[in-house]
Amino acid sequence: MSGGGGRRQQSRGRGRGSRRSSDLPTLPADGLRIVPLGGLGEIGRNMTVFEHAGRLLIVDCGVLFPEEHQPGVDVILPDFSWIRDRLDKVDAIVLTHGHEDHIGGVPYLLRERPDIPVVGSRLTLAFLEAKLQEHRIKPVTVRVSEGDRRSFGPFDCEFVAVNHSIPDGLAVAIRTAAGLVLHTGDFKMDQFPLDGRVTDLRAFARLGEEGVDLFLVDSTNAEVPGFTVSEGELSPAIEAVFRTTPGRVIVSSFASHVHRIQQVLDAARDHGRKVAFVGRSMVRNMGIAADLGYLDIPKGLVVDLKQLERLPANQIAMICTGSQGEPLAALSRMARRDHPIRITEGDTVLLASSLIPGNENAIYRVINELTRWGANVVHKGNAKVHVSGHASAGELAYCYNIVQPSNVLPVHGEWRHLRANADIAIRTGVDPTRALIGHDGAVVDLVDGQAKITGSIPAGLVYVDAMTVGGATEESLHVRRTLAEEGVITVVCIVDADTGKLVEEPDYLAHGFEHEPGDFAKATPAIQKALTTATKEGIDDIEQVEDLVRQAMSNWVHRQARRSPLIIPVIVDA
Ligand SMILES: [Zn+2]
Ligand SMILES: [Zn+2]
Repeated sequence: MSGGGGRRQQSRGRGRGSRRSSDLPTLPADGLRIVPLGGLGEIGRNMTVFEHAGRLLIVDCGVLFPEEHQPGVDVILPDFSWIRDRLDKVDAIVLTHGHEDHIGGVPYLLRERPDIPVVGSRLTLAFLEAKLQEHRIKPVTVRVSEGDRRSFGPFDCEFVAVNHSIPDGLAVAIRTAAGLVLHTGDFKMDQFPLDGRVTDLRAFARLGEEGVDLFLVDSTNAEVPGFTVSEGELSPAIEAVFRTTPGRVIVSSFASHVHRIQQVLDAARDHGRKVAFVGRSMVRNMGIAADLGYLDIPKGLVVDLKQLERLPANQIAMICTGSQGEPLAALSRMARRDHPIRITEGDTVLLASSLIPGNENAIYRVINELTRWGANVVHKGNAKVHVSGHASAGELAYCYNIVQPSNVLPVHGEWRHLRANADIAIRTGVDPTRALIGHDGAVVDLVDGQAKITGSIPAGLVYVDAMTVGGATEESLHVRRTLAEEGVITVVCIVDADTGKLVEEPDYLAHGFEHEPGDFAKATPAIQKALTTATKEGIDDIEQVEDLVRQAMSNWVHRQARRSPLIIPVIVDA
């Protein structure tokens, strides 16, 4: 996540002749099956399942965040149904890094089988464990670092350092009898990262020498020409904010962007400001990062909010969540005057983060409100305060030339990103028939050194909705949208069951649908007609009768008002 790309496109894999597993070709004993359950055709809910010798290995299990057309949805998960009855065959879940779009689905998977070993780096596992604590799950973990080689069932995994917008990212090389697969996870090739931990191209080269049979590559920035600039290049702009702001400095960033927050802490120290972390996930993650040594907090710099508020404004800095305009996050609440921190003239708000497509409206609303209260708002659009966490086209080309893979499966991107990434692979000499454009649910078989899409399985969106997982469906979201846009009319009819005659004028109750008093009475003849038809045709199933009344009312409203509200008929026997 936190990349330069968009989020998701409308067309999905599930419409493309989804097949049940039984329809798939049999996987040869020495073959490897690779099935992305999420992250292809969308940016989010990354999850790939590897199958070999009857065993399964999962790489990442993330969530996707809903858009405005998915009201009431908290997060969206990959569909686990393809592996649900084989969870006992899963040897491990390997997590490449600690972003939500890679670990957010783990609690839901572990709910189904709590003892699947979860493999990851120190920071990744620490972020995951904090999250699992909220779900009251204690995972079985296996901590690994770059250079480690560990086997999980028939999957011999080697971990390679990669650089990204969160520390401690890992690529994973998976060796099986089918060959060598390299999965980059999310990565970029910052040559001067703040922690000095560069993407290990020497390891990529060594694996390339051995022969990478299939290369799964982050596509997020494949359309962006050139190279992603170094994180350190943001320092002057961040520094300028701290130097020139007369009032308080309020920085909002992703709660996992440890290096960005390090730069902010350093600038605060240099300019004599104290800092408080605001927002639950920010406080929690920065505590973890500092405890584990990923974040260096100068002594006495960070104080709690109460202490901070006693200082003069020009000695105050705050670091909070909400850089994507999330309505419940600290920054949006400050913008709405729904937070103890009151933004005033002289304050500067620094949005040190990407602007994820789909969130623009919410973010600009927050920027406008903050400006209205007098703040100077510094963001990606007016200052160099953000760089992406993903490799651009130039870096990807280097990778292909170094690794020289036989087959390529671009991952982590919408169609346009996957296509652009495949094109780069082809330009570096990968056989065009071996640069596969997959989709969620595509079944890729690596057999005799060649990867081919051999079928597809269902991989739809699973909505998490307050208390339910998978309870909300496309149909219920359609109802919610209709309610939001068109309103609802309830029609209560008291009917003589023998004659089908209305005993009295129906009760019409409308919400969110504009009308004049008495309007609906004109619909009564149409409703009576529907009821009469039902009686004549001997329809006595109440649901069928209600359907006829719904249709009659719906047609009438559409003719009169050109609207399509939700119609709820209630038939009561007289
Ligand atoms: Zn990601
Ligand atoms: Zn990421």
